[in-house]
Amino acid sequence: MTTETNQAKCPYCGSSDLTKKKRGWTVTTGVFGMNKMQYQCHECGKKFMEKKADFS
Ligand SMILES: [Zn+2]
Repeated sequence: MTTETNQAKCPYCGSSDLTKKKRGWTVTTGVFGMNKMQYQCHECGKKFMEKKADFS
């Protein structure tokens, strides 16, 4: 269980300076998971799925 009030952080560098967006359709995965939310970190530039974000 996660709550929307917690601030997500980058699991790689710990930054909370993130962009959240729908992953959408991709060539590699097609429509699978296209409604999942994805973050991109502004600090290190890595992308990761919402469930991998550090909420602690
Ligand atoms: Zn980062």
